[in-house]
Amino acid sequence: MQLSRARSAVRPFLQAGLRPSGIAFARVQSELALSRAAGRRFQSTSESTTSSPASSPNPSASTEPPRTSPPKISRWKRFLQGLGTATLVTVLGVGGGFYYYSKHELNPGPQLDFDPEKKTLVILGSGWGATSILKGLDTEDYNVVVISPRNYFLFTPLLPSVATGTLSPRSILQSTRYITRHKKRKVTVIEAEATDVDPANKIVTFSDNSGVQGQVWSTTLPYDYLVYAVGAETQTFNIPGVREYAGFMKELHDAEKMQDKFMDCIESAAFPGQSSEEQDRLLHIVVVGGGPTGVELSGELHDFLEEDLKHWYPELADKIKITLVEALPSVLPSFSRQLIEYTESTFKEAKIDILTKTMVKEIKEKSVVLAMPDKSIKEVPCGMVVWAAGNTLRKVTKDLIAKLPEQDNRRGLIVDDHLRLKGADGIFALGDCTATQYAPTAQVAAQQGNYLARILQHIAKRDHIQKQLDVLAAEGVVDAPEKKGEIESLAKQLAKWEKLRPFHYSHQGSLAYIGSEKAIADLPFFGSGNLATGGMITYYFWRSAYLSTLFSLRNRTLVATDWMKVKMFGRDVARD
Ligand SMILES: Cc1cc2nc3c(=O)[nH]c(=O)nc-3n(C[C@H](O)[C@H](O)[C@H](O)COP(=O)(O)OP(=O)(O)OC[C@H]3O[C@@H](n4cnc5c(N)ncnc54)[C@H](O)[C@@H]3O)c2cc1C
Repeated sequence: MQLSRARSAVRPFLQAGLRPSGIAFARVQSELALSRAAGRRFQSTSESTTSSPASSPNPSASTEPPRTSPPKISRWKRFLQGLGTATLVTVLGVGGGFYYYSKHELNPGPQLDFDPEKKTLVILGSGWGATSILKGLDTEDYNVVVISPRNYFLFTPLLPSVATGTLSPRSILQSTRYITRHKKRKVTVIEAEATDVDPANKIVTFSDNSGVQGQVWSTTLPYDYLVYAVGAETQTFNIPGVREYAGFMKELHDAEKMQDKFMDCIESAAFPGQSSEEQDRLLHIVVVGGGPTGVELSGELHDFLEEDLKHWYPELADKIKITLVEALPSVLPSFSRQLIEYTESTFKEAKIDILTKTMVKEIKEKSVVLAMPDKSIKEVPCGMVVWAAGNTLRKVTKDLIAKLPEQDNRRGLIVDDHLRLKGADGIFALGDCTATQYAPTAQVAAQQGNYLARILQHIAKRDHIQKQLDVLAAEGVVDAPEKKGEIESLAKQLAKWEKLRPFHYSHQGSLAYIGSEKAIADLPFFGSGNLATGGMITYYFWRSAYLSTLFSLRNRTLVATDWMKVKMFGRDVARD
């Protein structure tokens, strides 16, 4: 009776699809407890009565105790329990792995000391080419010295994002020592600029040209092998005013300077009493160069305007104008036609003006002088010009070319199929400082770096065998019959290691961000095919591709966090 009363008390709640609550629920619970107790009492009574069949008042009654089936767990509950367990295991696994890996990166183990028996390998530069070698190189084979005016690696493809505050500068750089400390043998890192390479005597001269110098700031170093990866500098085509008034987009400080100047233009435009024409001038940004860097920068500037400046400078935002100037007939000449058109239409929607077949003649303090497609000259007022138009050789590279009669290409250093510098012994060159059939891209420099790391290992093995043969020759036992087998085996090995595979570039595709959460990608498809795609999904692909290409867990974490921060809190408009 109690049981049925309790059930009838709960029924209204169940029928209403509600969970009983408050006092009513407490009452129902106590009634249920009573009914359970009653049930137990009933059960024990029946057990005691059935335990003695002789005393059973009803002989036809069953001797089996009543069966109670185990409480049923609904499928949904089982699913939730499974999901919870899987989530917990995943979180613990990923968290533990992340913790272990980050601790490992922070605490590199002991390293082998310098070995006077090993050859000296000097690497000039700490960019894409040099860092890829360092990553892949087995430093046990050499005493390695890295010389570069930057003591870090810069992930250049994300530099335009730093210029608009989407990423913080530190997120896309990686200290070179961080990389070298994880190598087997100690690597010397010198923050200095190579000022001269003497290929005849195998000596490199370098100087500390930083703000602070010690008593010694310039010295020389002999090398056995030299890897020349100093990149290139920005090409200005000797156009008047470029160096004085334009900003560049090559180094980290260029991006930081640009961000600062852009915000300065906006704050000056907001100054009380500024005329409408002056506001228009200050808020006109001209980007020169329609390659991936210029396009990405224009897209990033547009995002900054739409997502942030419109909120913080509502009275000025509509006046901000971005113009992209390109001398060729179209922007992004290395991309397929449909992606060029897609970019042009996206820019049109975003109100970014594209001026193709237009040449910059001069840059002045407050304007840019343009030669238009119809050959007319137009002076356009602007607050800021960013120059992202091409590469030229550094002075040290030009000097090296001048020393070698075999080097007669003004575009860059000539190398053979194994990246050996033509006309010099023991020098390898790669990346933007070379003149090859490949475009000057990070992808090419990185693949060349990986290749050279393998080749240098190969050469170390070859040199080791040669050394053994030289020792036998010095001992005068080359003709001794008991040494014949050993010498033949060494000669065979030497012949094997003499064969170096030539460098082969494998194009992995081209990617560019074009703003408005859209990216474009030209990807190789089944050998000679090509997949051209653009839009929002490509944008997520672009992001994940760059995240996976970043060189360390630290960089990946910082960049992903920056992207999340900007999504949640927007970009910073404060100026230092
Ligand atoms: C803004 C921007 C965006 C880019 N985006 C892409 C992209 O999306 N995809 C792509 O494939 N490529 C991209 N690139 C091109 C790519 O960055 C270069 O092709 C690549 O950096 C070339 O590698 P490198 O090793 O030859 O030169 P760098 O990476 O430039 O490295 C040169 C190194 O040499 C050092 N150095 C300079 N002078 C000396 C000296 N005298 N002595 C010693 N060391 C010296 C420098 O400090 C630097 O560490 C971009 C470039 C820029 C600037």
